[in-house]
Amino acid sequence: MRLVLLGPPGAGKGTQAANITDSYKIPHISTGDIFRKNVKEGTELGKKAKGYMDKGELVPDEVVVAIVEDRLKEEDCSDGFLLDGFPRTVNQAEQLDSVLAEMDVAIDKVINIDVRKDTLVERAAGRRVCRSCGATYHVMFKPAQKKGICDLCGGEVYQRDDDTEDTVSKRIEVYINETQPLIEYYSRKQNLITIDGEQNIQKVFKDIMAALGV
Ligand code: ADP
Ligand code: AMP
Repeated sequence: MRLVLLGPPGAGKGTQAANITDSYKIPHISTGDIFRKNVKEGTELGKKAKGYMDKGELVPDEVVVAIVEDRLKEEDCSDGFLLDGFPRTVNQAEQLDSVLAEMDVAIDKVINIDVRKDTLVERAAGRRVCRSCGATYHVMFKPAQKKGICDLCGGEVYQRDDDTEDTVSKRIEVYINETQPLIEYYSRKQNLITIDGEQNIQKVFKDIMAALGV
């Protein structure tokens, strides 16, 4: 299964990606996670990406596309993958199509998680993430069992630098201008599924699996 998760920042893409990739046993490719890992390790890529991330802006297309192309050519992606947070512009989507065509494969479904702006701000403000494994928590909706400690790996659970109110607003604005047009792009290709993301985590997952025919 080759899947794309689409939706505004804070919609629940990473949360659902973890559930979906567990079910299908496919790799979870989150460009945001790749950038955060590089920032943490202080690599050249991390240094380049951090400036954009802190401002809530998109990292330039050519940088992101090159990373995803390399990742998709790795062995573990040969039977399927889930892209989370990529593509984020029409240009990225077109380049993804070219890369996949060269590999003689295509996206099966694009899952669009639909959430209202007020909910996004509430979700992003309460989001906490494990510094080691990237697992996602929420102070109210999905708290870690022990405050500040990851249930899965015991790592430190922290608040992302870009989850401040101002940066979240900027990211939502960038989403509306740059990413929302992808809904139309994938509807035309007739592989878009839209899911009501206002529901609780389990119900959203149930609806996604039902829409995928599981
Ligand atoms: P995205 O990857 O789309 O930016 P996340 O998966 O990181 O979003 O979710 C944002 C925050 O909202 C996290 O703190 C997560 O625990 C929480 N969350 C995700 N889905 C739901 C939901 N259906 N109901 C309530 N909170 C949710
Ligand atoms: P995310 O974890 O998906 O919320 O992404 C965090 C940040 O990483 C974004 O605000 C962007 O700065 C950057 N980023 C992640 N994915 C992309 C992408 N596909 N294109 C451009 N920038 C991205």
